[in-house]
Amino acid sequence: MRTRFFLLLFVFPAFVLDAQVDFNSYFLDKTMRVDYHHVGGKSEERLTLDKVYQEGPWPGSIVNLVDTLNLGEYMLRVFDLKTGILLYSRGFNNVFHEWQTTAEAGRGVWKTFHESVRFPFPRREVQMTINRRDRAQVFREVFSTVINPADPTVVITGAQHPGFEIVTLMDNGHRHRNVDILILGDGYARDESDKFKADAKHFNDVMFETSPFRERRKDFNVRAMCVISPESGVNIPDRNIWKNNTLGSTYNTFGSPRYILTEENRILRNIAATAPYDFLCILVNDDRYGGGGIYQLYTTTYVNEKNAGQEWQRDYVYVHEFGHSFAGLADEYYSASTGYDEFYPEGIEPSEPNITRLMNPPDVKWRHLVTPGTDIPTDWGKEEYDGLRGKLMQLDRLADDYYEKRDPIMQRGKDILSNPELLGKVGAFEGAGYVSEGMYRPSLDCRMFSLGLVDFCPVCRAAIERQIDFYAE
Ligand SMILES: [Zn+2]
Repeated sequence: MRTRFFLLLFVFPAFVLDAQVDFNSYFLDKTMRVDYHHVGGKSEERLTLDKVYQEGPWPGSIVNLVDTLNLGEYMLRVFDLKTGILLYSRGFNNVFHEWQTTAEAGRGVWKTFHESVRFPFPRREVQMTINRRDRAQVFREVFSTVINPADPTVVITGAQHPGFEIVTLMDNGHRHRNVDILILGDGYARDESDKFKADAKHFNDVMFETSPFRERRKDFNVRAMCVISPESGVNIPDRNIWKNNTLGSTYNTFGSPRYILTEENRILRNIAATAPYDFLCILVNDDRYGGGGIYQLYTTTYVNEKNAGQEWQRDYVYVHEFGHSFAGLADEYYSASTGYDEFYPEGIEPSEPNITRLMNPPDVKWRHLVTPGTDIPTDWGKEEYDGLRGKLMQLDRLADDYYEKRDPIMQRGKDILSNPELLGKVGAFEGAGYVSEGMYRPSLDCRMFSLGLVDFCPVCRAAIERQIDFYAE
């Protein structure tokens, strides 16, 4: 009985809270940024307030203020203090949440990460909360504070950074009705700003040659900020390479050689604040393959491909990582062994739109996109595909006949992923989200599955379009 009572209590306000408020009644056309420290270990967390800033013009929608997409592990909520009306909300992910799944956290270590949330500048006092999903996917409050926007001892209004040169790559309309992307360079020395401008243009062209961005380019503005670093290149800890790069981008995040993130959030935010932005992309001026993308935080991509003929790899990375940070998409790839399983706790349906535990097969979460007549789950030759991976692992890379033996195996793998009977169909294909068994992806192949320039699958495409629609209204 008790459970039932609580359920009702949660369902009712959630329904009412979906209403959007009139922007001008509650907000000024400026941005408020709240910085905090995210402290904790594997199963505990505390958020402590750092500083509150007034930034430049509000870049987001003034129609869609309350989040209707329900993505991300965390949810920012901003309430009018006097009436309790929900004014603004936004789902997001952060570095802390990923770090919690690492061996370091598992050993009992506690760490601190600096994070920011941004929302339109309120006219009156607001209560701001940060909420995290519990095992049943219900958001539970982990932080709450009251902010008085009129108190000059609370809100820092002075310029935080003199800013760097900004180049407009695409201008398709007002910041309120367009998605505003800001591309920043990291590890570009003073004499490399022309290189940065050329790189930014290159990656932006790549993005808007990829569907569905290509068809929706009129809904985007893109600016590039020539952030100058004292030194060229970024940190590569496993080679003991340390650089003085302004945004602090570093390979080897969480022990993974290819994972590039920066933990210098305050510096990044103070610099980015000098341009309007909804989404940040960081170009990393280095030649080791790598990147990263976290929903509503930023993407990173290496820009210099050292192997001739392999330049497509960096182009693949840029758009793939943007899929994470823009649309909250999960990685659809997996390895045959189940080493990384903890990333998605067992028995819990992931919140990402493009992977599922398929706990109730007829009710797959992308059922409205399933191709009629497709079996759920969908048989796709997984056993043979996994067997090929095993064979590849057994080959001796240094043997004279390595390529001779490797190439037919690779070709068979490609054939499985382009089986004409399944190509383009939506079903539920086992193997996704780093997990070989018990996790499913929507299609045979996708930009979030293969390392290659394949298109986004229909489910990922729909998720990207929903996000564009949300920001472009
Ligand atoms: Zn996909």
